Amino acid sequence: VVRAEMFGQLTSGLEAAWTKLKGEEVLTKENIVEPMRDIRRALLEADVSLPVVRRFVQAVSDQAVGVGLIRGVKPDQQLVKIVNDELVKLMGGEVSELVFSKSGPTVILLAGLQGVGKTTLCAKLANYLKKQGKSSMLIAGDVYRPAAIDQLVILGEQVGVPVYTAGTEVKPSEIAKQGLEEAKKKKIDVVIMDTAGRLQIDKGMMDELKEVKKVLNPTEVLLVVDAMTGQEAAALVTTFNVEIGITGAILTKLDGDSRGGAALSVKEVSGKPIKLVGRGERMEDLEPFYPDRMAGRILGMGDVLSFVEKAQEVMRQEDAEELQKKIMSAKFDFNDFLKQTRAVARMGSMTRVIGMIPGMGKVTPAQVREAEKNLKLMEAMIEAMTPEEREKPELLAESPDRRRRIAKDSGKTEQQVSQLVAQLFQMRVRMKNLMGIMEGGSIPTLSN
Ligand code: GDP
Repeated sequence: VVRAEMFGQLTSGLEAAWTKLKGEEVLTKENIVEPMRDIRRALLEADVSLPVVRRFVQAVSDQAVGVGLIRGVKPDQQLVKIVNDELVKLMGGEVSELVFSKSGPTVILLAGLQGVGKTTLCAKLANYLKKQGKSSMLIAGDVYRPAAIDQLVILGEQVGVPVYTAGTEVKPSEIAKQGLEEAKKKKIDVVIMDTAGRLQIDKGMMDELKEVKKVLNPTEVLLVVDAMTGQEAAALVTTFNVEIGITGAILTKLDGDSRGGAALSVKEVSGKPIKLVGRGERMEDLEPFYPDRMAGRILGMGDVLSFVEKAQEVMRQEDAEELQKKIMSAKFDFNDFLKQTRAVARMGSMTRVIGMIPGMGKVTPAQVREAEKNLKLMEAMIEAMTPEEREKPELLAESPDRRRRIAKDSGKTEQQVSQLVAQLFQMRVRMKNLMGIMEGGSIPTLSN
């Protein structure tokens, strides 16, 4: 399927950047030089406009060497996350919803050059609204191409919405007026006005649009642009916005081998959001423009992103708070230990999280591997403990018999069990010290 390959070239261009960071331990001013060059090149090749690329690269480098690094997350993963967040921001952050009028019909005026997919889009949009339970009516305003009117009528029939036509002899602004009246009479929710496109921007087209806009007083004025035209699409959005004032853009043909320049440049260059995207010729191929999903598709590294996010979360959320409370009251027991261990196992590794706790020091990849190996070992031993023993690690510190039993039941050596118990107490103390509470944190000597 073509879809999977959307922006494929950009994706692989960016991949080069991550690859260069493999084996590094932290992001530094020096080691991001090459990756940033790759990112810059990838964006330019995707036809993102140069000023946008410059700002983007600057923002990413600033963050990369700045604060907010999560210890334990590898530099390449960290960079993926920063680039992702900047991409989302670049594309407008939040999804920009269509606005609907609260009184009378919502009027959507569509503009765009010839061949961008505007006529198709009218019907797609009607179909899209229909699924949301909104009735709509199309108004055929392309009076220069009788074929365009016929096409709109056919598409309207296909999606089951009425099309208002008045031939090619009536002025578009007059057609708009009549069509709107008709829609009001029929209590239609949304009126979608198709207008004439030209091969290039010209004064006649702009004047006509201004006139139609005046008559319709539209809720939305959307410029339809072809994603294949890259940064040119962004320039068009700017021009139309300056000339007639628009509320947003719709990108079509995102399913083709478009390189991403349009999707990435439109908002930043024009200040206007992309509201919807067309991703195919079928009537169903229209969807809201989700900056986060788009960034995700571009990077194609969903798993890395969710790992980094999770790592951030683990620190931020209840785990951290709960853990802190437990540590403060020296109640961190084997249940917590097990819970942590399992949560961390899900994330990938134990020491990564330990490494995230400020003051615990940097964790080397070798340590990570070691911890991963230890993980299963610990689980087995903790599972062999009684509930009481888990809650009161002191019992294990005091009784060699208990440790012996656990060793036997878990198939580990007594020494391994002793190590685990010692480790828990060490952790308590280390964490307690970390929290700035110095009193009472002694490590018990295990009795024999
Ligand atoms: P208009 O001149 O702007 O009204 O453009 P049309 O609606 O006639 O579309 C021009 C061509 O682009 C037609 O062949 C459409 O089927 C095709 N088209 C429109 N939207 C899309 C899209 O999202 N993806 C693809 N692949 N083709 C599209």
